[in-house]
Amino acid sequence: MKDSDIDLLEELVRFILKKESADPVITPTPPDALRNKMDLQIEEEPLNEEDLLDQIKSVIAATPKTSSDKFFNQLFGGRNAKAAVAEMVTVMLNNSMYTYKVGGPMVLLENEIVNEWCKLANYPEGSSGTMAPGGSLSNFMGMIMARDNKFPEIRSEGNQRMPVMYASKECHYSVRKNAAFMGIGTNNLRFVDTDAKGALNPEQLEAMILEDIDEGKDPFLVLGTAGTTVMGAVDPIDKIADITEKYNLWFHLDAAFYGSILLSETHRQKLKGIDRTDSYSFNAHKLFSIPLSCSFILTKHKACLYQSFNSKADYLFQADSDDYNPGKVSLQCGRRNDAFKFWVMWKSLGSKGMSDWIDKEFELSQYAREYVLNHPDYTLYSPEGTLTLCFNYKDIPPRHICNALNDEGEMMVGYGKFKDNEFIRLAIVNATNDKEVIHEFFKTLEAFANAELAQEIEA
Ligand SMILES: *Cc1c(COP(=O)(O)O)cnc(C)c1O
Repeated sequence: MKDSDIDLLEELVRFILKKESADPVITPTPPDALRNKMDLQIEEEPLNEEDLLDQIKSVIAATPKTSSDKFFNQLFGGRNAKAAVAEMVTVMLNNSMYTYKVGGPMVLLENEIVNEWCKLANYPEGSSGTMAPGGSLSNFMGMIMARDNKFPEIRSEGNQRMPVMYASKECHYSVRKNAAFMGIGTNNLRFVDTDAKGALNPEQLEAMILEDIDEGKDPFLVLGTAGTTVMGAVDPIDKIADITEKYNLWFHLDAAFYGSILLSETHRQKLKGIDRTDSYSFNAHKLFSIPLSCSFILTKHKACLYQSFNSKADYLFQADSDDYNPGKVSLQCGRRNDAFKFWVMWKSLGSKGMSDWIDKEFELSQYAREYVLNHPDYTLYSPEGTLTLCFNYKDIPPRHICNALNDEGEMMVGYGKFKDNEFIRLAIVNATNDKEVIHEFFKTLEAFANAELAQEIEA
């Protein structure tokens, strides 16, 4: 790497930061129009350095800015600067996390983080876990462990029985996809109703299990959610655990959204009962604003992790004990290092700072909630204490407001649906924002919606 490449990196980082504040929302262009407008084709001849820089900048300029303070569209957003720097270091070092031999201290610090999250969940000594490329696949690993624990023969013989599993109607769509990947079949995933807040109904869960047992089926897994995608609901963890213990079923908790809350002194009781789960997944790239992706699967049953993911590979695992060869409990072979960025952020803030980070998000969401409650033009759909705020303004169709805001390059915010209501869903997952940013969000939305209304009345 030459000095000119280092200069290039610095110039591009500065350019990104400038664009983020000057031009935070990209006016959407249909893909074909964008392809025609930009010079994206691969050419036979190399570009000179100057043209290369121009072309990279034009791509950056046209790319949505998820770290800006106008981005409220997803369950991730913002940027922890130290984590972003660490991610660049990770790229430079380019290790693979299958062995200690190749990963060195990166493997040790990943183990350290895994152990901390086992402790935070009050899992017993000897619990374990690993990282996967995102919550969908962390869930997949939890679900596979549940399957192999109940039906160990399935790994060599394929499915011989009638397995069924359960999750709420509000569960993440990866659960359904995973049911297909696992060879269990989407028809053998039962969807349990939710209450008014979006949390799983445990009485109905038990009734469904009894019915399936009665029909000779083999229930093996209940998948709860801590932080549903739309409403931010938490399923009743203790009540589900009562049922999974009674019927001897695996309890996996999809805490992709809310798992990070375990580090908050103030809010961790929202996940009370997590110690009774068999496994849980969580995404540090959501509430901690760490670059994508940073996702974990933790389990009490270390042996199950080995049973499901261990394979012999003599060419690879030549040294050190299994604890230091995380490739032995992985979905993957080569695996990127997603741990270092988390470790650097955690070191830089301390557990206390990490706790404050999460608390700030709840403060911002409480501020937004009060704003909506204090302004009669709004209808609120969210219960107290969630990090997604669902509301409507003056009965204007939410799609209309969200699409128009985005089309005009004002802000990125999405809409969602729960039961019979459609609403704007404001995701409050960026602790680098402050109350003024949230206030500005509502003011922009109102000015915009009112201008639209005025136009409609004229027309
Ligand atoms: C985000 C999320 C997922 C998926 O995580 P990815 O990293 O996007 O694959 C799964 N479950 C819940 C509850 C989520 O919020």
